[in-house]
Amino acid sequence: MTDPGRCALCGSSERTVLYAGPIRTGRFGEVTSDPRTVWRCLSCGAGRLYGEAIDYETDEYRDLVDGGGTAEDYHRLHDAEQAGKLGQLGTDALRGKVVMDVGCGAGSFLDLARGLCETTIGIEPSSSLRAAAEAKGHLTFDFCGNVPREWRGRVDLAVCFSVVEHVNDPLALLREIGALLRPGGELLLSTPNRDDFLLELLPAEYGSFFYRRVHLWYFDAASLAGLLVRAGLRDPVITHQHRFDLSNAALWLRDKCPTGVGKFKAPAGADDVFRALLQSSGRSDYLYGRCRRGE
Ligand SMILES: [Zn+2]
Repeated sequence: MTDPGRCALCGSSERTVLYAGPIRTGRFGEVTSDPRTVWRCLSCGAGRLYGEAIDYETDEYRDLVDGGGTAEDYHRLHDAEQAGKLGQLGTDALRGKVVMDVGCGAGSFLDLARGLCETTIGIEPSSSLRAAAEAKGHLTFDFCGNVPREWRGRVDLAVCFSVVEHVNDPLALLREIGALLRPGGELLLSTPNRDDFLLELLPAEYGSFFYRRVHLWYFDAASLAGLLVRAGLRDPVITHQHRFDLSNAALWLRDKCPTGVGKFKAPAGADDVFRALLQSSGRSDYLYGRCRRGE
């Protein structure tokens, strides 16, 4: 077991085991042959998986994340999510603005936002995905730290979907994003929710699917809000979203495997009530955090 040392976010050495067991390496059912430990910091609450080597710039990494590394794979897997993200944001936030998507992949979100924005900037370490976004007319860079100085303090709105759990140093990433925001500029980010109710109901079966090699960090609402404040951002508001339906939850409990949505037809209105209950009680599968740079 790798010695976890001090928490990279808050410096505390007080921790407890959040999960111990095999973790996912790729698709459902592909897990590590040996057990791994995910730790929870007792001070800031962040969950951390140590000892995984990460190289975000390679196609192999995209394979681990998505099961495919091409722009076509990215669009096939992620285009359908983008309307929901825009819904979280509201289109009134975009008109005439400089918008930056950190971890933009092949540019699915920026493609949707571009009609309203003045400038779309994509940050993407994978050279093949970055080239695909660039070819569609988005301004692209590999890392936030490599964005030219002329853009510092000029971004009106940054989005960062399903990225913070992948990086070695989320605090450094958020500080870099903060430096690119204009005073008062906003950040909307998202990450899986460690308080997902299925983790409590199926700790072993769902745990070995939820915890995965490419996710180094695991947040709940409180630890995500704390991270944003620690990075110097202001007024964090955390909201819950449940992306899957009652059918997926019921079949997880019956068959111990994911099915995606709509495999059986729930009674009319049941999905809306199911999602609303999970979201209002903080037990959804996904979190959004919205915050801003100080004036
Ligand atoms: Zn900590």
